[in-house]
Amino acid sequence: AATALLLTSVAACGDDSGDKKSGDGGAKATDKIGVILPDSKSSDRWETQDRPALAKAFDAAGVKYDIQNAQGDKNAFQTIADQMLTSGVKVLLIVNLDSGTGKAVIDKATAAGVPVIDYDRPTLGGGAKYYVSYDNVKVGKLQGEGLVKCLTDKGVKKPIVAELNGSPTDNNATLFKEGYDSVLKPKYDSGEFVKGPDQSVPDWDNAKGGTIFEQMLTSTPKIAGVLAANDGLGGAALAILKKQKLNGTVPVTGQDATVPGLQSILTGDQCMTVFKDSVAEGTAAANLAVSLLKGEQGKTNATFTDPTNKAQIPAQLLDPVAIYKENVKDVITAGAVTKDKVCTPEL
Ligand code: BGC
Repeated sequence: AATALLLTSVAACGDDSGDKKSGDGGAKATDKIGVILPDSKSSDRWETQDRPALAKAFDAAGVKYDIQNAQGDKNAFQTIADQMLTSGVKVLLIVNLDSGTGKAVIDKATAAGVPVIDYDRPTLGGGAKYYVSYDNVKVGKLQGEGLVKCLTDKGVKKPIVAELNGSPTDNNATLFKEGYDSVLKPKYDSGEFVKGPDQSVPDWDNAKGGTIFEQMLTSTPKIAGVLAANDGLGGAALAILKKQKLNGTVPVTGQDATVPGLQSILTGDQCMTVFKDSVAEGTAAANLAVSLLKGEQGKTNATFTDPTNKAQIPAQLLDPVAIYKENVKDVITAGAVTKDKVCTPEL
């Protein structure tokens, strides 16, 4: 109850706002778009944000769709893709579990004449037709700058920083790290910050992230700041910090603007998160898929260069936003989460 009270007293949980969009599109009612989401254990975003955003955009365009989740199982990912191709989907959107299994799906789809859009994660060496994501190096930069800001606000001198990175098989995790290390490395080099443990979490698995962070804190009890690569990993680190009553003292970053992440920001436990508007990303990807259904060129604003084979993939890359306590409300206004969910914590 104390937490609920606290949340109703902060700005984001104050007055209401809402904004609904509608519209219709022109693809044939028989055309179907398939979407394969990766899991539910690496981030809340896929089921709570991306699925509804994609469904809403497809509904607005008047097209049929089938959205499924592979739940972290690479074999299930293949089976879902096979079933979708057999059932006659005309466009496939995938969030791969790794590039190898993603490529196997793209190869089959391409052979069946079905274009594939890489949604959020690129399939390296995969040859998708399009890629829709955020500027992921910038995401990492915002995280690095966020941690610097929160450590500076707390006045910590020569803080030991731990880095809890995303999955080694996700190129996004590589780009996030490139971004935050571009901010943190100069500080390590100058001695302003001290480089502590730095480890990746297989498959972004939040539970494994907690175990890894617990080991980090045991080996380096004076960790003063945590660069956690997403809200799920940030939450896992916070659970360990809470056991030592260090939550709120040791700033922790995040990403995805999930409900638990935003709540931890409002209670002062999490320093910041990065908002990658699922409504914008889902709508961009859905519109692209609908264009392909109609045989039109998709709208893009960038080119993604595949680092493995230098293939140039037409891309739509969006701009991420850093979220602190002061602007949590922006995530609610954008429609990515509801005020009710953010302001009514499950205690
Ligand atoms: C996404 C993140 C997400 C992570 C774990 C990344 O590819 O860009 O938003 O937190 O995967 O699912």
